[in-house]
Amino acid sequence: MKVLAIGAHPDDIEIFMYGLLSIFKKEGYQVYTMIATDGAKGGTIKGKKLAKERANEAISGLEKLSSPIFLNLPDGELGTELGHGKIIKENILKIMPDLIITHSENDYHADHKSLSLITRGAVSHYIPILYCDTLMGINFHPNYYVDITNHKESKKEALLKHKTQKPDRFVDLFELMNSYRAAQCNAPKGNYAEAYNFKPSFPFSDIREILPPPLKLRPFHIENQHGFL
Ligand SMILES: [Zn+2]
Repeated sequence: MKVLAIGAHPDDIEIFMYGLLSIFKKEGYQVYTMIATDGAKGGTIKGKKLAKERANEAISGLEKLSSPIFLNLPDGELGTELGHGKIIKENILKIMPDLIITHSENDYHADHKSLSLITRGAVSHYIPILYCDTLMGINFHPNYYVDITNHKESKKEALLKHKTQKPDRFVDLFELMNSYRAAQCNAPKGNYAEAYNFKPSFPFSDIREILPPPLKLRPFHIENQHGFL
């Protein structure tokens, strides 16, 4: 089974998808990672020097999962040229994954939105797409939660490799988001979950067979010792 994660910028896979990808890796899936833009605008230094540093950070951050494929499209301008879609499509087809994970079209950053729409257009109805959470969960309605508690420390380590991004703030951010998503499933403090959205369409009406098992069901009880409430 082949899973392809596509992030817009060099740290997005770690922030939004790392836990689920770690589970896939452990399950023996072939995990592929692809980074669409060069990230040349996201830092105090700019341009090619930053892009090179960020590429090295991504290689290091993703080393336990896969060697990332860099498309090096322009940061902040993804989708402004038709050629971008062609490059993304060609690279997806080279892998022909069984599942793609990428950003939601409702996310906050224009590059994230563009990548989501380009990816959807590129694969049409041939490959199912799982959309990852948006930044702080805004405009996002999950219908699939995955328990990443056992992978939380490796996610943190991966994110800390992105030194040009002052990564401590992103560690705080993902801990907040992933603990909130776990709490939505009534998991107690100390648990972490990543949230995803899948939109069924023919022929992928139900893709549970290729996903890791859902979170443990924790019903609400007044004297529940094992739930958030
Ligand atoms: Zn991004």
